[in-house]
Amino acid sequence: MDEAPRAGFARIFRGPAFTPVSPTEVAVLDDHLFCVDPAGTVARVLAADDPEAVELLAHHRAAGTLTEAAPGQYFLPGFVDLHVHAPQWPQLGRALDRPLGDWLMNYTFPLEARYADPVFARQVYTQLVENLLRQGTTTAMYFATVHTQASVVLAEICADRGQRALVGKVTMDDRSSNPDFYWDADTASALDGVVEFIERVHGLGSGGLVLPVVTPRFIPSCTDRALAGLGEIAARYGVHVQSHCSESDWEHQCAFDRYGRSDAESLDGFGLLTGRSVMAHCVHLSDRDAELFARSGTAIAHCPVSNAFFADAVLPLRRRLDEGLEIGLGTDISGGFAPSVRTALREALVQSRTLDHGADPGRPAPERGTHDGHIVLEEAFWLATAGGGEALSLPIGRLAQGYAWDAQLVDTTAAGGLPLFDVRDSRDVLDAILLVSGAEHIAGVWVAGRRVIGD
Ligand SMILES: [Zn+2]
Repeated sequence: MDEAPRAGFARIFRGPAFTPVSPTEVAVLDDHLFCVDPAGTVARVLAADDPEAVELLAHHRAAGTLTEAAPGQYFLPGFVDLHVHAPQWPQLGRALDRPLGDWLMNYTFPLEARYADPVFARQVYTQLVENLLRQGTTTAMYFATVHTQASVVLAEICADRGQRALVGKVTMDDRSSNPDFYWDADTASALDGVVEFIERVHGLGSGGLVLPVVTPRFIPSCTDRALAGLGEIAARYGVHVQSHCSESDWEHQCAFDRYGRSDAESLDGFGLLTGRSVMAHCVHLSDRDAELFARSGTAIAHCPVSNAFFADAVLPLRRRLDEGLEIGLGTDISGGFAPSVRTALREALVQSRTLDHGADPGRPAPERGTHDGHIVLEEAFWLATAGGGEALSLPIGRLAQGYAWDAQLVDTTAAGGLPLFDVRDSRDVLDAILLVSGAEHIAGVWVAGRRVIGD
């Protein structure tokens, strides 16, 4: 028997799996083979009782290129985190009782200013990326800081450690709105820094694993000249764009005061709403803004945990999904206190139900909520995985042919075991994995076919 790996497949993964196939449908694959090519893409999916599977298993077992789930273990797509402020990792969970202005000026901006020191940046970012991988986050979209060198350090760490990442050097060049200890020195050097950053990330040789992102912090922190310049750079390099949009009453009103139109319309006017744009929060979008998002292919990074502290309201998630908008989840480290997309998934479910049913028991039931529906578990799973992939226009977030093998292996027997007694069907298992499990149940994580967690 030829014991070399079968041509075309670098490795085969065998086990039961859960993967979203649409926003409302999860495929339960009982005992399947996922055949991954040398580029880390799933080239073939077949049932273990397929006649061809026997031969494939024999080849790859002999060659040592077979990974098999043990009893109680299940493959899921890795999580996609659409909104992380990497420099805020050291203050995770801190000072969330402060108003946004106080939180930014007295906690967040002084911390972000410290990344002028690339040594500090390397220390923090190394720990952050390691932690997120252990949470099963195979892709993260990061805001870095205004510092070009420290932003490149984050991109390098992601490339070296093997996390799929989209990294942005932040632009905040408006002297009147930023603190004197933390801002871009001037508009021209801010834009030059963005171009330098894009070219350096492209030069990392990560094979597309790490991508640069044009990142105006938000409209209030940038001059018109910078915003227009960033729109032009995004178009010239065809790169992703990220920012914040209509997060709170304050931010939503800022654009009206400055331009006489909404945050979304203003960002669009600068060429910043594209098919590769991801806007964080978007809680206060008008229906017209939502149409603009749908038309331009701009996605929402829904950050339910930080919204509870800073957004003044709950995102009408049911309505935005029904409008066909691209939506994924963000932890919003450190406006959110949890580093796990699992927590964002759970909080998205809870807030969606609260908005639908209402919150104030002092009101009669019919007047208590919006009564326009809430999301279900399948949709929350979609948002955490495939929804994030669609938001980024990347082939990730599903265990299916043509998608990257960005996967996590969840061990329901680990850490004392999940409470899986009297299991009726695999849906019971999925419920426990999504709503009860933690990072301690992750036995392995792969990105583009490369194992990044586990032995
Ligand atoms: Zn943010």
